[in-house]
Amino acid sequence: MKYDYLIVGAGFAGSVAAERLAAVYDKKVLVVDRRPHVGGNAYDTLNEHGVLIHQYGPHIFHTNSQQVVSYLSQFTGWRPYVHRVLTSVNGQLLPMPVNRDTINRLYGTNMTEPEVIRYLESVAESVAEVRTSEDVVVSKVGRDLYEKFFRNYTRKQWGLDPSELDASVIARVPIRTNTDDRYFTDDFQAMPDAGYTALFKRMLAHPNISVSLDTDYRDVATVVEYSGLIFTGPIDEFFDYRYGPLEYRSLRFRYETVRADRALPAAVINYPNEHDYTRVTEFKQLTSQVHRDSTLVYEYPCADGDPYYPVPRPANRERFLRYRSMAEQSHHTYFTGRLGTYRYYNMDQVVAQSLTLCGRIMGSPAAAILQEG
Ligand code: FAD
Ligand code: UDP
Repeated sequence: MKYDYLIVGAGFAGSVAAERLAAVYDKKVLVVDRRPHVGGNAYDTLNEHGVLIHQYGPHIFHTNSQQVVSYLSQFTGWRPYVHRVLTSVNGQLLPMPVNRDTINRLYGTNMTEPEVIRYLESVAESVAEVRTSEDVVVSKVGRDLYEKFFRNYTRKQWGLDPSELDASVIARVPIRTNTDDRYFTDDFQAMPDAGYTALFKRMLAHPNISVSLDTDYRDVATVVEYSGLIFTGPIDEFFDYRYGPLEYRSLRFRYETVRADRALPAAVINYPNEHDYTRVTEFKQLTSQVHRDSTLVYEYPCADGDPYYPVPRPANRERFLRYRSMAEQSHHTYFTGRLGTYRYYNMDQVVAQSLTLCGRIMGSPAAAILQEG
């Protein structure tokens, strides 16, 4: 069998590309993934207790892109869900992101919004150029809040001090002076109503798409005939680590199932300063599943294991750019996704990136491709 495209990876990056090429451009596509399932890191499944879990950590869908929502809505319905997180600091569970209530409860004060703004201005440090994740926080809220809420969480999560990480990492989490306690403020926040795996199965159920699981790119690269390649795995691995390995952060997940309707006071509790894990999540609060048991997952960051997070810092950026220039010289070979483009992207950003890529490959504007289907 000859394919028009071989797509490596059945996560959002690969599956979106496969669906568009197959459905809009009538291309014959083979999707391979070395894991035994589709969905990449967004894969969900029932565990041995019958509780719906996200096997690679909690995934909450949120976006400001109506185009991405319209596109994905072809493959799933949605259940509205607003994500809230508490963080354990000084023996209290406080709202995260830091907001006015967080500050008032931490310090036992009763400041109004203008008073909180003045307080933060009085403790903020002046930073000539905000470059690192430490700069982002201390320039907004000063040392005390930085040390209590951010420094140790970041050291645990990344194995690096915030001063060694790009500003973009901690800048993902805002600082608020109002009492908004939503983790995300995007227009659209929801969970796929039948789960992520069901979404992927529908996306890939096109007669032009074949899927081969438990299959590494290396197993098929020289066996299968194809005209173009879309690679969503680690770009450094693709090029045999020619310029040295890129750094990735991994996680070990520990699951715990308890007999409870609800086990935690919020869907996620962060632990910046205690324990070896960064956070614990109760899946039923994300999925709204009704079940007599509840499964929690604890995330233990580590250096080795599956590559979950690119590590945004200057040395990695430089190395990635060398790989990217190799990629640009590779004919009919395209890279997309969190690992293929070494970007700390959320799901919606990966979807948008693959939609755009398909538009580019097929020589049509991204907007056109988004309207199809
Ligand atoms: P992946 O999902 O990693 O898919 C890549 C696939 O390629 C994998 O299945 C892999 O097995 C396969 N592959 C790699 N190399 C090869 C090879 N050589 N041969 C065959 N197959 C190969 N995003 C959000 O929007 N909201 C969240 O709440 C959220 N939470 C997250 C929590 C955690 C713990 C993590 C790690 C990520 C989270 N994300 C979240 C990010 C989200 O997981 C990614 O944006 C998205 O899954 C990336 O999709 P992808 O297709 O680029 O990569
Ligand atoms: N962060 C922190 N304290 C927190 C939550 C987040 O210091 O309580 C920092 C940390 O560096 C983390 C980053 O902000 O890696 C991004 O947080 P986010 O919740 O977006 O991480 P993800 O869900 O991608 O793991």
